[in-house]
Amino acid sequence: MRAVEQRITSAAERARRKRSDITLVAVSKKFSSCRIREAYGVGLRDFGENYVQEFSAKSKELMDLTGARFHLIGHLQSNKARVACELFQVVQTVDSPKLLERLNTHAAERAIILEIFLEVKLSGEQSKTGAAPEDIPALLDAARDCPSVHVSGLMTMPPWSEDPELSRPYFKALARLAEQNGLRELSMGMSNDLEVAIEEGATTVRVGTALFGKRPKPEEAHSFDQAI
Ligand SMILES: *Cc1c(COP(=O)(O)O)cnc(C)c1O
Repeated sequence: MRAVEQRITSAAERARRKRSDITLVAVSKKFSSCRIREAYGVGLRDFGENYVQEFSAKSKELMDLTGARFHLIGHLQSNKARVACELFQVVQTVDSPKLLERLNTHAAERAIILEIFLEVKLSGEQSKTGAAPEDIPALLDAARDCPSVHVSGLMTMPPWSEDPELSRPYFKALARLAEQNGLRELSMGMSNDLEVAIEEGATTVRVGTALFGKRPKPEEAHSFDQAI
Protein backbone atom coordinates (compact mmCIF):
# COMPACT_ATOMS: atom_id res chain seq x y z
CA MET A 1 0.00 0.00 0.00
CA ARG A 2 2.81 2.38 0.83
CA ALA A 3 4.38 1.93 -2.61
CA VAL A 4 1.07 2.66 -4.36
CA GLU A 5 0.44 5.66 -2.13
CA GLN A 6 3.91 6.95 -3.02
CA ARG A 7 3.23 6.53 -6.73
CA ILE A 8 -0.06 8.43 -6.46
CA THR A 9 1.47 11.22 -4.40
CA SER A 10 4.43 11.69 -6.78
CA ALA A 11 2.20 11.66 -9.86
CA ALA A 12 -0.15 14.20 -8.26
CA GLU A 13 2.79 16.45 -7.39
CA ARG A 14 4.17 16.27 -10.92
CA ALA A 15 0.74 17.14 -12.29
CA ARG A 16 0.33 19.92 -9.69
CA ARG A 17 -2.78 18.28 -8.35
CA LYS A 18 -3.94 17.67 -4.80
CA ARG A 19 -3.64 14.10 -3.50
CA SER A 20 -7.03 14.56 -1.85
CA ASP A 21 -8.68 14.98 -5.27
CA ILE A 22 -7.78 11.40 -6.17
CA THR A 23 -9.59 8.35 -4.77
CA LEU A 24 -7.72 5.06 -4.61
CA VAL A 25 -10.10 2.17 -5.24
CA ALA A 26 -8.47 -1.07 -4.12
CA VAL A 27 -9.52 -3.75 -6.59
CA SER A 28 -10.11 -6.85 -4.49
CA LYS A 29 -11.69 -9.20 -7.02
CA LYS A 30 -10.64 -12.84 -6.54
CA PHE A 31 -9.25 -12.01 -3.09
CA SER A 32 -10.94 -13.13 0.08
CA SER A 33 -12.82 -10.92 2.51
CA CYS A 34 -9.83 -11.35 4.86
CA ARG A 35 -7.63 -9.42 2.46
CA ILE A 36 -10.25 -6.67 2.22
CA ARG A 37 -10.39 -6.48 6.00
CA GLU A 38 -6.58 -6.27 6.16
CA ALA A 39 -6.56 -3.46 3.60
CA TYR A 40 -9.27 -1.65 5.57
CA GLY A 41 -7.06 -2.06 8.61
CA VAL A 42 -4.25 -0.10 6.98
CA GLY A 43 -6.62 2.69 5.97
CA LEU A 44 -8.15 1.83 2.61
CA ARG A 45 -11.87 2.65 2.37
CA ASP A 46 -12.81 2.20 -1.30
CA PHE A 47 -12.89 -1.27 -2.81
CA GLY A 48 -13.59 -2.41 -6.37
CA GLU A 49 -15.21 -5.72 -7.23
CA ASN A 50 -16.02 -7.15 -10.66
CA TYR A 51 -18.59 -9.84 -10.00
CA VAL A 52 -21.92 -9.39 -8.23
CA GLN A 53 -22.09 -13.04 -7.21
CA GLU A 54 -18.54 -13.19 -5.84
CA PHE A 55 -19.01 -10.04 -3.81
CA SER A 56 -22.42 -11.13 -2.57
CA ALA A 57 -20.70 -13.96 -0.68
CA LYS A 58 -17.80 -11.84 0.61
CA SER A 59 -19.92 -8.86 1.67
CA LYS A 60 -21.62 -10.85 4.43
CA GLU A 61 -18.28 -10.94 6.24
CA LEU A 62 -17.67 -7.23 5.81
CA MET A 63 -20.79 -5.64 7.27
CA ASP A 64 -18.88 -4.14 10.19
CA LEU A 65 -16.41 -2.10 8.09
CA THR A 66 -17.88 1.32 8.77
CA GLY A 67 -17.21 3.90 6.12
CA ALA A 68 -16.10 1.35 3.52
CA ARG A 69 -17.41 2.01 0.03
CA PHE A 70 -17.75 -0.78 -2.49
CA HIS A 71 -17.61 -0.01 -6.21
CA LEU A 72 -18.83 -2.35 -8.90
CA ILE A 73 -16.25 -2.10 -11.69
CA GLY A 74 -17.21 -5.17 -13.74
CA HIS A 75 -19.97 -5.45 -16.30
CA LEU A 76 -23.47 -5.51 -14.83
CA GLN A 77 -26.35 -7.40 -16.42
CA SER A 78 -29.62 -5.59 -15.87
CA ASN A 79 -31.18 -8.65 -14.21
CA LYS A 80 -28.63 -8.22 -11.42
CA ALA A 81 -29.35 -4.52 -10.93
CA ARG A 82 -31.39 -5.12 -7.77
CA VAL A 83 -28.64 -7.09 -6.02
CA ALA A 84 -26.01 -4.61 -7.22
CA CYS A 85 -28.03 -1.82 -5.59
CA GLU A 86 -27.98 -3.69 -2.29
CA LEU A 87 -24.27 -4.48 -2.35
CA PHE A 88 -22.55 -1.47 -3.86
CA GLN A 89 -22.39 2.22 -3.06
CA VAL A 90 -21.05 3.05 -6.52
CA VAL A 91 -21.68 1.34 -9.86
CA GLN A 92 -18.95 2.38 -12.31
CA THR A 93 -20.08 0.37 -15.31
CA VAL A 94 -23.41 1.79 -16.47
CA ASP A 95 -23.52 1.61 -20.26
CA SER A 96 -27.18 1.49 -21.33
CA PRO A 97 -30.43 3.36 -20.68
CA LYS A 98 -32.03 0.08 -19.61
CA LEU A 99 -29.45 -0.51 -16.88
CA LEU A 100 -29.72 3.11 -15.78
CA GLU A 101 -33.49 2.79 -15.43
CA ARG A 102 -33.29 -0.52 -13.56
CA LEU A 103 -30.76 0.90 -11.11
CA ASN A 104 -32.94 3.96 -10.65
CA THR A 105 -35.97 1.81 -9.83
CA HIS A 106 -34.12 -0.29 -7.27
CA ALA A 107 -32.35 2.69 -5.72
CA ALA A 108 -35.75 4.38 -5.35
CA GLU A 109 -37.15 1.26 -3.64
CA ARG A 110 -34.30 1.45 -1.16
CA ALA A 111 -34.71 5.20 -0.77
CA ILE A 112 -31.07 5.84 -1.65
CA ILE A 113 -29.30 7.89 -4.27
CA LEU A 114 -26.94 5.51 -6.05
CA GLU A 115 -23.70 6.97 -7.37
CA ILE A 116 -22.85 5.82 -10.86
CA PHE A 117 -20.24 6.30 -13.56
CA LEU A 118 -20.93 5.81 -17.24
CA GLU A 119 -18.51 3.32 -18.72
CA VAL A 120 -17.14 4.40 -22.07
CA LYS A 121 -15.66 2.11 -24.67
CA LEU A 122 -12.94 4.04 -26.44
CA SER A 123 -11.20 1.16 -28.18
CA GLY A 124 -12.52 -1.08 -30.90
CA GLU A 125 -11.95 -4.24 -28.86
CA GLN A 126 -14.86 -6.64 -29.29
CA SER A 127 -14.46 -8.02 -25.79
CA LYS A 128 -14.92 -4.67 -24.06
CA THR A 129 -18.18 -3.37 -22.68
CA GLY A 130 -19.13 0.27 -22.34
CA ALA A 131 -21.15 2.85 -24.22
CA ALA A 132 -19.82 4.51 -27.36
CA PRO A 133 -18.66 8.10 -26.78
CA GLU A 134 -21.43 9.39 -29.04
CA ASP A 135 -24.04 7.70 -26.84
CA ILE A 136 -23.05 9.61 -23.69
CA PRO A 137 -25.34 12.64 -24.27
CA ALA A 138 -28.36 10.32 -24.67
CA LEU A 139 -27.43 8.43 -21.50
CA LEU A 140 -27.18 11.72 -19.62
CA ASP A 141 -30.60 12.70 -20.96
CA ALA A 142 -32.00 9.41 -19.71
CA ALA A 143 -30.32 10.03 -16.33
CA ARG A 144 -32.24 13.28 -15.94
CA ASP A 145 -35.39 11.17 -15.59
CA CYS A 146 -33.72 8.99 -12.96
CA PRO A 147 -33.72 10.97 -9.71
CA SER A 148 -32.41 8.06 -7.63
CA VAL A 149 -29.13 7.79 -9.50
CA HIS A 150 -26.43 10.42 -9.56
CA VAL A 151 -23.98 10.37 -12.48
CA SER A 152 -20.60 11.43 -11.09
CA GLY A 153 -18.50 10.90 -14.15
CA LEU A 154 -17.00 8.58 -16.71
CA MET A 155 -15.01 5.37 -16.47
CA THR A 156 -12.86 3.62 -19.03
CA MET A 157 -10.42 0.78 -19.43
CA PRO A 158 -7.95 1.06 -22.32
CA PRO A 159 -6.58 -2.06 -24.03
CA TRP A 160 -3.98 -3.62 -21.76
CA SER A 161 -0.39 -2.89 -22.65
CA GLU A 162 3.02 -3.10 -20.99
CA ASP A 163 3.66 0.49 -21.98
CA PRO A 164 1.59 2.93 -19.90
CA GLU A 165 2.13 5.66 -22.49
CA LEU A 166 -0.16 3.75 -24.83
CA SER A 167 -3.02 4.42 -22.40
CA ARG A 168 -2.54 8.18 -22.57
CA PRO A 169 -4.62 8.87 -25.70
CA TYR A 170 -7.55 6.98 -24.13
CA PHE A 171 -7.27 8.91 -20.89
CA LYS A 172 -7.09 12.21 -22.79
CA ALA A 173 -10.17 11.22 -24.79
CA LEU A 174 -12.11 10.36 -21.62
CA ALA A 175 -11.16 13.67 -20.00
CA ARG A 176 -12.29 15.57 -23.08
CA LEU A 177 -15.58 13.68 -23.24
CA ALA A 178 -16.27 14.38 -19.56
CA GLU A 179 -15.56 18.05 -20.03
CA GLN A 180 -17.83 18.27 -23.06
CA ASN A 181 -20.61 16.72 -21.01
CA GLY A 182 -20.07 18.70 -17.83
CA LEU A 183 -18.93 15.73 -15.74
CA ARG A 184 -16.24 16.05 -13.10
CA GLU A 185 -15.15 12.58 -12.12
CA LEU A 186 -12.82 10.37 -14.17
CA SER A 187 -12.26 6.75 -13.19
CA MET A 188 -9.19 5.66 -15.13
CA GLY A 189 -5.78 4.16 -14.43
CA MET A 190 -4.82 0.78 -13.00
CA SER A 191 -1.67 -0.79 -11.56
CA ASN A 192 0.51 -0.23 -14.60
CA ASP A 193 -0.70 3.15 -15.83
CA LEU A 194 -1.99 5.07 -12.81
CA GLU A 195 0.65 7.82 -13.14
CA VAL A 196 -0.35 8.58 -16.72
CA ALA A 197 -4.02 8.57 -15.67
CA ILE A 198 -3.35 11.06 -12.87
CA GLU A 199 -1.42 13.31 -15.25
CA GLU A 200 -4.48 13.26 -17.52
CA GLY A 201 -6.88 14.12 -14.71
CA ALA A 202 -8.04 10.85 -13.11
CA THR A 203 -10.04 11.46 -9.93
CA THR A 204 -10.37 7.72 -9.24
CA VAL A 205 -7.71 5.10 -9.92
CA ARG A 206 -8.57 1.40 -9.69
CA VAL A 207 -5.60 -0.58 -8.45
CA GLY A 208 -5.49 -4.32 -7.87
CA THR A 209 -2.21 -6.12 -8.54
CA ALA A 210 0.05 -3.35 -7.22
CA LEU A 211 -1.76 -3.51 -3.86
CA PHE A 212 -2.67 -7.15 -3.40
CA GLY A 213 -0.21 -8.95 -5.65
CA LYS A 214 -1.05 -11.24 -8.52
CA ARG A 215 -4.64 -12.45 -8.41
CA PRO A 216 -5.10 -16.10 -7.46
CA LYS A 217 -6.30 -18.28 -10.32
CA PRO A 218 -9.70 -19.83 -9.64
CA GLU A 219 -8.22 -23.26 -8.84
CA GLU A 220 -5.77 -21.69 -6.39
CA ALA A 221 -8.33 -19.50 -4.69
CA HIS A 222 -9.30 -22.11 -2.16
CA SER A 223 -5.83 -22.84 -0.84
CA PHE A 224 -5.18 -19.14 -0.90
CA ASP A 225 -8.14 -18.54 1.40
CA GLN A 226 -6.94 -21.23 3.77
CA ALA A 227 -3.49 -19.68 3.93
CA ILE A 228 -4.92 -16.55 5.55
C1 LIG B 1 -9.11 -5.90 -12.47
C2 LIG B 1 -9.45 -4.50 -12.79
C3 LIG B 1 -8.66 -3.42 -12.33
C4 LIG B 1 -7.35 -3.59 -11.58
O1 LIG B 1 -6.36 -4.05 -12.42
P1 LIG B 1 -4.82 -4.18 -11.93
O2 LIG B 1 -4.06 -4.19 -13.18
O3 LIG B 1 -4.74 -5.44 -11.15
O4 LIG B 1 -4.53 -2.98 -11.10
C5 LIG B 1 -9.10 -2.13 -12.60
N1 LIG B 1 -10.23 -1.90 -13.29
C6 LIG B 1 -11.01 -2.89 -13.74
C7 LIG B 1 -12.24 -2.56 -14.49
C8 LIG B 1 -10.64 -4.21 -13.53
O5 LIG B 1 -11.40 -5.20 -14.02
